[in-house]
Amino acid sequence: MDPNTLRALFPIFERQVRGQSIAYLDNAATTHKPRCVLEAIQRHYAEHNANVHRAAHLLSQEASLAYDAARKTAAGFLNAASPSEIVFVRGATEGINLVAYSFLRARLAPGDEILLTLTEHHSNIVPWQLLAQQTGACLQVVGVDAQGDLLWEDFEQKLSQKTRLFALVHVSNAIGVRHPVKKLIARAHAQGVPVLLDACQSVPHGPVDVQDLDADFLVFSGHKVFGPTGIGVLYAKKAHLDAMLPYQSGGGMVEHVTFEHTRFRPAPERFEAGTPNICGAIALAEALRFYKQIATPAAFAHEEALIQALLEGLRSLPGLRIIGNPRERVGLVSFCLEGIHAHDVDTLLDHQSAVAIRSGHHCAQPLMRHFGLTSSVRASVSFYNTLEDIHRLLEGLLKVRMRLG
Ligand code: PMP
Repeated sequence: MDPNTLRALFPIFERQVRGQSIAYLDNAATTHKPRCVLEAIQRHYAEHNANVHRAAHLLSQEASLAYDAARKTAAGFLNAASPSEIVFVRGATEGINLVAYSFLRARLAPGDEILLTLTEHHSNIVPWQLLAQQTGACLQVVGVDAQGDLLWEDFEQKLSQKTRLFALVHVSNAIGVRHPVKKLIARAHAQGVPVLLDACQSVPHGPVDVQDLDADFLVFSGHKVFGPTGIGVLYAKKAHLDAMLPYQSGGGMVEHVTFEHTRFRPAPERFEAGTPNICGAIALAEALRFYKQIATPAAFAHEEALIQALLEGLRSLPGLRIIGNPRERVGLVSFCLEGIHAHDVDTLLDHQSAVAIRSGHHCAQPLMRHFGLTSSVRASVSFYNTLEDIHRLLEGLLKVRMRLG
């Protein structure tokens, strides 16, 4: 679909920012929502609102059916073997915490190791760090080279008899590197190590097939793939889920309760205590269907063309440093303007040109430190971006340079 036709499906693009249409290049932080997702939210609350799995009345049956169907849609989206391998969570962050506390905690002894990479988002560092502190385990971190590619030998060396889990990002939200995850997972499995994949930035830019990758766990957030905030997916192999302890407890996840003993429901309900985000799951399913429809090879080629145009334009700007030059790059570019703070670039682009980008450490401080930085500017694309958005960014950067350089 032509990006301008696609934009017409997103009400937010009807909005003016400081008298101009918005050039939204902050898609790695969150994507905008198409009308069909907004309508699904409205429809749910206006026509079917009820709690799930509890009442016999018609509205509850409709809400329950829609919630179950959403799980099926999410399973199909990731090619999971069964919908029971899908747990609805608040987002990737909650999914990672769930695996940390329900899966790994019971398997850790002092001296055990959790393997991460230098390219992780804080949400795939801090939960493991806390868990390590509580159990006497420690973190090992696979390094990257100057381009941002993982050091395979370092990975081989740090994957050890003591490794209990390898948790890594598929595509880095800070520099856009896509790791060769199928190969990494196969190697970890050869050592008997389960793998958690943070797919927040890969899911919006290409098919992700959990069976093909053979991931043990995978998380993504709905809001980065045209869905609402507050809903995300944890995929886990059934054998893992069946062996895991509850994460939170309360109603909805139990079969039988006495004051002496509680029998839990099977997965995935065992991991969804309390009233779930019913509408969020339904709207996410709508978003995933929408995404499947628009994510054609031509749409991915369009994203790639935008990234190439951006890289080319940035390379022609004097005093501009692009952060990393990975073998495979997906969806975004991070850069710095010599002598100008990233936050000033961000603010001026917004004020002068209505260009929305992100500045800061991108919740990846260890990786930024590796590049000798505390912050960078990040531009990230989606299918609805146009070459005009890229040109507005590049022109905006020239203006920033003239004003502050
Ligand atoms: N991992 C990556 C790679 C991300 O980009 C993000 C969001 N920036 C997260 C994890 C956390 O996602 P959320 O805040 O939606 O839980």
